[in-house]
Amino acid sequence: MKLNIRLHGRGGQGIKTAGRVVGTAAFLAGYYAQDSPMYGPERRGAHVSSFVRISDEPVDGRGYIAAPDAVAIADHSLLEQASPLQGLRSGGVVIINAAKHVELGIPTIQQAVLDISTLANKILGRDAVSAGVGAAVCKALGIAGRADVIEAVKMEMEELGLREELIEANIKLAEECYAAIPTLQLKTNEEDMLMERDEIVEIPATPAPASVALISAAGNSTARKTGAWRDATPVINYQKCTRCMVCYIYCPDSCISLDETLTPHIDYEHCKGCLICFMECPPRAIQVEV
Ligand code: SF4
Ligand code: SF4
Repeated sequence: MKLNIRLHGRGGQGIKTAGRVVGTAAFLAGYYAQDSPMYGPERRGAHVSSFVRISDEPVDGRGYIAAPDAVAIADHSLLEQASPLQGLRSGGVVIINAAKHVELGIPTIQQAVLDISTLANKILGRDAVSAGVGAAVCKALGIAGRADVIEAVKMEMEELGLREELIEANIKLAEECYAAIPTLQLKTNEEDMLMERDEIVEIPATPAPASVALISAAGNSTARKTGAWRDATPVINYQKCTRCMVCYIYCPDSCISLDETLTPHIDYEHCKGCLICFMECPPRAIQVEV
């Protein structure tokens, strides 16, 4: 077996850990495995990727996977805002965290859909899908059996230092996702298999104004709607709000404005859900909705 998998999600969902669960489960199942995340936009809500290479021979490739056999997408809104299907081989598999089938417009790609977020919210109380995505990828691609996946989840959650009850909850999420998702057969054709599996991805240097086009001129950062990154929403309870202005001062993106009575208002088009306002509000007048 030789399998290259790319995982996409948003900061806070656990995409790095999902990749580690897949890599560890593959290792426990007897394969060589390598997993790595792509660091960079390390903030809640931003697009995050991780990569897993699995083989019955030692893995020499490193870095970004340009032509994956399978892609996992933990937030289907990324299909509009990023390019998670880029380079996916014909006949490959997409595992999507969504409530229903997503129209991808590529008939040669197979799709396995599971509403992992709803299960995670029910079991963990938040959209932390790492164990669920990891288990779903392992089952959908036939990488590892249930026992190896559960052991991998336990090992990775212990390494994160989670409390016992949270480890148990993540195992429950993994078990439910493993049971619910079907196993698909990769239908990668011969021509695709002959393609270089570990291409060097050249990222050309571009002048700063080209790479940050929307904020290259003064005063136009409002054109970048960072509200689309949010996976948790702060909501002000005006009955409890004392108009102390702390949230207004602390919001790193200036998304909170005050009216003439010093009442704060959140600009949800730009609030990216960092929840600093929630953490800092003295009377706990800000609630979190997921
Ligand atoms: S501090 Fe609050 S309002 Fe500002 S971006 Fe973070 S979550 Fe949104
Ligand atoms: S920090 Fe809390 S109490 Fe103070 S203005 Fe903001 S929401 Fe109101």
